[in-house]
Amino acid sequence: MSFSSLGLSQPLQHAVAERNYSSPTPIQTLAIPVILRGADVWASAQTGSGKTAAFVLPILQLLSAGTRPHGRFVRALILVPTRELAAQIGESIQRYARHLSEPLKTLTLHGGVSINPQMMALGRGADILVATPGRLLDLLDHNALSLSAVSILLLDEADRLLELGFAKEFGRILALLPASRQSLLFSATFPPEVQTIAQSLLRDPVRLNVAAEPQNKPDIHQRVIEVDVPRRTQLLRHLIEKNQWTGVLVFVATKYSTEHVAEKLRTAGIKATALHGELSQGARTQALAEFKAGKVQVLLATDLAARGLDIVQLPVVVNYDLPRSAVDYTHRIGRTGRAGEAGIAISFVSAGTHAHFRLIEKRHRLGLPREQIEGFEPTELAVPDAAGGIKGKRKSRKDKLREAAARSGKPPQRAKLDP
Ligand code: AMP
Repeated sequence: MSFSSLGLSQPLQHAVAERNYSSPTPIQTLAIPVILRGADVWASAQTGSGKTAAFVLPILQLLSAGTRPHGRFVRALILVPTRELAAQIGESIQRYARHLSEPLKTLTLHGGVSINPQMMALGRGADILVATPGRLLDLLDHNALSLSAVSILLLDEADRLLELGFAKEFGRILALLPASRQSLLFSATFPPEVQTIAQSLLRDPVRLNVAAEPQNKPDIHQRVIEVDVPRRTQLLRHLIEKNQWTGVLVFVATKYSTEHVAEKLRTAGIKATALHGELSQGARTQALAEFKAGKVQVLLATDLAARGLDIVQLPVVVNYDLPRSAVDYTHRIGRTGRAGEAGIAISFVSAGTHAHFRLIEKRHRLGLPREQIEGFEPTELAVPDAAGGIKGKRKSRKDKLREAAARSGKPPQRAKLDP
């Protein structure tokens, strides 16, 4: 399959050729012709699958064929969960649109920066608006734009949008859109809330599902390492040094931990920096740029700050703190193993989090082996949970026999252990 067979115009094919993509990814092969013919799309696609180009290229082509915006009207609206994702999609649009005979006006609008220039920029409308829902609603409150001429609506990473409370905002935005439009929904996972939105948004959608095909799954080696909570930073340092990792994205639970662990690693001579939601936009952009340029080796991030990060060839992702949900797990590990590159995703599991990780595995039908690293073997005891069971690491048969043997004073019976 080649890009030329997908029905893309010459200027778009030219832009793709400049990226040196040898062939379209599966989601691109499926989505581009369907979007070009104007159908609604319900696409299940992971970050790293090439999904951005899968929707940006056909949207650019459809808009190039239509008439330019006027007044405060917007022609295509792309809603995304985070600033970073908005910025990345904005960059992709610029990149793929560069050879179009008539430029398309694209605005990328998100919170964290002053609203006034955004209102000014919207004055004469836009061909494409890439926005986070919160900022879009602020701008609508200021009467800075009109959605009544939107011909294409796209929700990207719809599952993340909903996790951030989008359901409440969605009704308001939907009411402002014209009934006649093309709607596209991209999501890595389809929990019930996303299905509800999909049903109210899409008309007779074409379902595209590449994630379900194993050969298209990114190549991610998932590892689980057992370690006591207080020793995680030392273990992290050990792994980074031993494996000489460059480009490690480490997920931690809180803003405080991003700073704290980064500081500890820096003291140990590792170039580490924190990325969290309370940093200014400038500081976040700088942290990301330094990480991308290889000046920073380890990025300590919270889920919110890391959402939508597009760093090609990110070799390692570490769950220092486990993600809260199975959906978050998918998103986190999706930061590695992108566009054909192999990646490693490591989760640290401690006595108190074993049960939680088992739930994540159950949701994904995984059964990952537990590892221990020499010198970092966990010593913490498992904590009995409210039901009287053991939360955390269960005793093995061997341990129980050893304990029984210790009580009776007799050596354990090996024959029973290794029949
Ligand atoms: P995305 O899933 O849109 O975040 O894309 C992941 C990465 O894959 C981006 O860095 C793209 O530049 C890259 N990419 C997109 N399409 C292709 C392609 N056809 N061949 C190789 N890489 C691609």
